Amino acid sequence: MVDLQGQYAKIKEVVDPSIQEVVDSAAFINGPKVHQFQKNLEDYLGVKHVIPCANGTDALQIAMMGLGLEPGDEVITADFTFAATVEVIALLKLTPVLVDVDPVTFNIDIDAIEKAITPKTKAIVPVHLFGLAADMDAIMGLAKKHNLYVIEDNAQGIGADYTHKDGSKTKTGAIGHVASTSFFPSKNLGCYGDGGAIFTNDDDLAHTIRGIVNHGMYKRYHHDVVGVNSRLDSIQAAVLDAKLPHLDDYNATRRHAAKKYTQIFKGHPKITVPTGKSTCDGICDTCDCHVFHQYTLQLEGVDRDALVAHLQANSIPCGVYYPIPLHKQKAYQDERYNEDDFQVTNRLVESVISLPMHTELDDEQIDFITSTVLNFINSNS
Ligand SMILES: *Cc1c(COP(=O)(O)O)cnc(C)c1O
Repeated sequence: MVDLQGQYAKIKEVVDPSIQEVVDSAAFINGPKVHQFQKNLEDYLGVKHVIPCANGTDALQIAMMGLGLEPGDEVITADFTFAATVEVIALLKLTPVLVDVDPVTFNIDIDAIEKAITPKTKAIVPVHLFGLAADMDAIMGLAKKHNLYVIEDNAQGIGADYTHKDGSKTKTGAIGHVASTSFFPSKNLGCYGDGGAIFTNDDDLAHTIRGIVNHGMYKRYHHDVVGVNSRLDSIQAAVLDAKLPHLDDYNATRRHAAKKYTQIFKGHPKITVPTGKSTCDGICDTCDCHVFHQYTLQLEGVDRDALVAHLQANSIPCGVYYPIPLHKQKAYQDERYNEDDFQVTNRLVESVISLPMHTELDDEQIDFITSTVLNFINSNS
């Protein structure tokens, strides 16, 4: 699905000395590289505060702790996402409220959010799923109206632009009250191990969060709140700081690959290609609303399992993200849920397939992948 070795080979000359610098300095924890990367990422995103931490799941948890959410508070998030999002809500004894997603964008459905809001609701967690910015104007509008926090799960969307109604642009992760991201190796900006970060424009919240990530300490050995130990280590920061200047190019390469895929698949009666918001197809040249963490097709009248097996037989990796809706997972079932409210997610889990998507995909590989997919679909109808 990804080609991390191919990517490394091209930036080895920058990454290796950056890592070596950390080893030579022995500043493994909270070293200057961490601070340098933090500053550079703040500039890139146009956000006031980046607080690095150990991984994207911690980042979400710490964001919720920083907001002071308390047991019993309801937090609304999407049914169709990676489990980390709902996991930390449950872990903090908050009440997850899963809602359906939009059939076109796969992102959290605005009407479904509004329907799920109760007097106990405290926060909304939109996920910029597969790299496409969620409808942030609408979400921020709802949050304002109902006095809620917005926590952006930007693990899959780093580098994407959200275009506001007035045409101005903001990077995803710089719009909500707070945001989280992951630097897991296969993410759009990945390190060589685990890593994550929290973003916010709120000075007070940033201060609170900086203490939480460090055992609740604001003054050495004074523990004012219950915190956690969650750090981005200096070697990972060195890798990330070397890769950050390439992020826009990486995302452009993904968009180029997406465009090629879409040109070939578009219009096929059994295939729906991924798209952007209503005003954009996700691959246009005028905005970067989609950074294609995944390139995900919806199939109709195709035996997906057989297609997966066919691709595997041809040495083409593929993935089903995600095969089970969160509301049906054993850990997150809730008798308040009604199947009628999850029609889109229930359909997507049966019909989606994600194709190889990374920075090293070339046109020849895409031709092989697309023709293998089409051969199967056209000869099995
Ligand atoms: C990857 C991911 C996370 C978790 O990140 P980790 O660094 O693996 O903990 C959270 N949310 C979403 C949507 C993700 O894709």
